[in-house]
Amino acid sequence: MIILDCGACGREQTSADLLQFRISPDEAGEILQVKLFCYCRVCRSEFLGLGVVDKLKLPLLRKLVDDGQAKGDYTDLFFAAIPLYVRPPPKNVPEHLPNAIEKIFVEALECAAYSLWTASAAMCRLALDRMSKDVLESIHGFEEHTTKSDRERLANRLEWLFEHDNLPSSLAEICQIVRLNGNDAVHDGNTPEIEAKDMCDFTTEILRSVYTEPERRRMAIERRYDRRR
Ligand SMILES: [Zn+2]
Repeated sequence: MIILDCGACGREQTSADLLQFRISPDEAGEILQVKLFCYCRVCRSEFLGLGVVDKLKLPLLRKLVDDGQAKGDYTDLFFAAIPLYVRPPPKNVPEHLPNAIEKIFVEALECAAYSLWTASAAMCRLALDRMSKDVLESIHGFEEHTTKSDRERLANRLEWLFEHDNLPSSLAEICQIVRLNGNDAVHDGNTPEIEAKDMCDFTTEILRSVYTEPERRRMAIERRYDRRR
């Protein structure tokens, strides 16, 4: 493992595995520039980096690659190691999302950043789908109280959750819009820009209300108790 900024998710000082390295053919001398093919353990993406290394350390570098997910920190092998291309992380991702949902919503925001409106809308719908499954499955004994279509179909699942007060009723309308526009994206494949941007805003609002705000409240309450202890 080496520590460097991730070129895929933009996180600073992340743990990465060195999958491969390559010395430029025109490199000579004792200090070499090597291209690094890395794998970020946080976002689980590959990215390219650049390292500066003493020629004498090359066998150790080779060993690090051969060992695969070597446990120790080998950052010291390099004089410097940086990502070659950095994709800035999307801004305004709601905090405290479950990992799987965060990954989906980050992809929705990235698609929008590259003007891939239909893909972005489809990913927003997927985030809504996963959120509703997550909420439903967190309810004790949910299987006894729901039908197969409540569990499997997004429309029915949302209806059940709102009917039983498991989601705030203030979100009902925007959940409906995200679901329907997401269906259009998947079936017609021509989501306009303005609609995709609304989808991202609405999904942000939904995820904040379901995950970010309750967790912030919980943490604030915990801090209060800690102070009184
Ligand atoms: Zn990363």
